[in-house]
Amino acid sequence: MKIHIDIDCFFVSATRIIHPELEHKPVAIGGRSDTKIFAKEAKNQTVNLENSGSFVPTFYKAYETKDDDIAAFKDADGRIRGILTTSSYEARAYGIKTAMSIREALQLCPQLIIKTPNMSLYQKLSHELHDFLMQRIPLVEQASIDEFYGDLSGWIEDEEIPQFIDNLRHEIKKELKLPVSIGAAKTRYIAKLATTYAKPFGCKTIYDWEFDRFVNPIKVEDFAGIGRSMCAKLNAAQIQTLGALRLRRGTLESWGPYATELYKRVNGESDAPIQTQHKRKSIGISRTFDPLYDRVELRRRVHVLARHLSFAIYKLGVTPTVFHLSIAYEMHQKSHKNISLSELFTEKKFDELCISLFNEADTQRRLHVIRLSINCSSFTRDSRKELSLIGFAEDKAMHELTIKTQKLREKYGMDTLKFASEL
Ligand SMILES: [Mg+2]
Repeated sequence: MKIHIDIDCFFVSATRIIHPELEHKPVAIGGRSDTKIFAKEAKNQTVNLENSGSFVPTFYKAYETKDDDIAAFKDADGRIRGILTTSSYEARAYGIKTAMSIREALQLCPQLIIKTPNMSLYQKLSHELHDFLMQRIPLVEQASIDEFYGDLSGWIEDEEIPQFIDNLRHEIKKELKLPVSIGAAKTRYIAKLATTYAKPFGCKTIYDWEFDRFVNPIKVEDFAGIGRSMCAKLNAAQIQTLGALRLRRGTLESWGPYATELYKRVNGESDAPIQTQHKRKSIGISRTFDPLYDRVELRRRVHVLARHLSFAIYKLGVTPTVFHLSIAYEMHQKSHKNISLSELFTEKKFDELCISLFNEADTQRRLHVIRLSINCSSFTRDSRKELSLIGFAEDKAMHELTIKTQKLREKYGMDTLKFASEL
């Protein structure tokens, strides 16, 4: 059987290790798009190249932590900004949810305690849990900062699994002080579904004989991989539950390969092996800010983002060949541009590329911009594409210059060296 392990309200649970007085209280972790990187004066940035995801940024600012960190979310004008990334179960009882604005959450629960994120602590705990699991289970895959899959086939007999995962859950609580929930089933997708029902701090094993009884009544939106648009499509086809979905193989197959795969996952027919090493497929940076019209300042911000991303790309030691820049405007307008380029990566070229992508993508010139994102993917080490030899000599000289820059930045910080175009 496969198992899925998920830390319960991870960021809150991590904070409670340091602040045990927050146990049994409504607590939430706030987050806000860190626009401090656009400041012209230098500041301390930390680069996080592991497990970055929707709420785990690649670049972050280390915060000081106090009893209640609400002040950290106030603007110069005293307005509370930002959204919640995690909330405790006590807070959820008030209707507080992930991605809700802090202001709205405080209206629902005025006694809510807000803490700032502590990424280094989360990374440390995530590593500790990974190490711990590797000692207990032969095959462990880290799926995100607080989620792991394990393969127990040939290691633990199926009938002994409930006891095994229950012991594991208590051991993790005792050794690492982290509450986790664990699901077990014949495939990873059903194991993950089981975890959802085990939460908080519980275990759930789904045997084949109870598969139908467990899976069928669950609403389609509760299955990982069914997003809002797929859910709407299913509902329009009179499919509300996973049981109803399982009766409609033909319908799902007629919707194409994604829906077909989804059908197989729900039906327990599709599985993926546990991958012990999580390979990064892309890296990106993105910032949301107050609506900004000034194109000169926007281009400067593109330079800043390019510099940070370039640093991360060098640190990862990869050569991306697909570059994507997207712009979000006010009034829900969006625009993006991408380009494939099989050449040696240099910061100078990347910086110029980002600016030209921005110029091309900026089609709504009368609108204010609220977000800029740059993403790089298809690393050559993976795709084995040959790098173009045109301009290789100049690229190589520039490449070496960038390596020197990189060393200086690693030593003295991200803001040590900038291109003149950014100043
Ligand atoms: Mg979790």
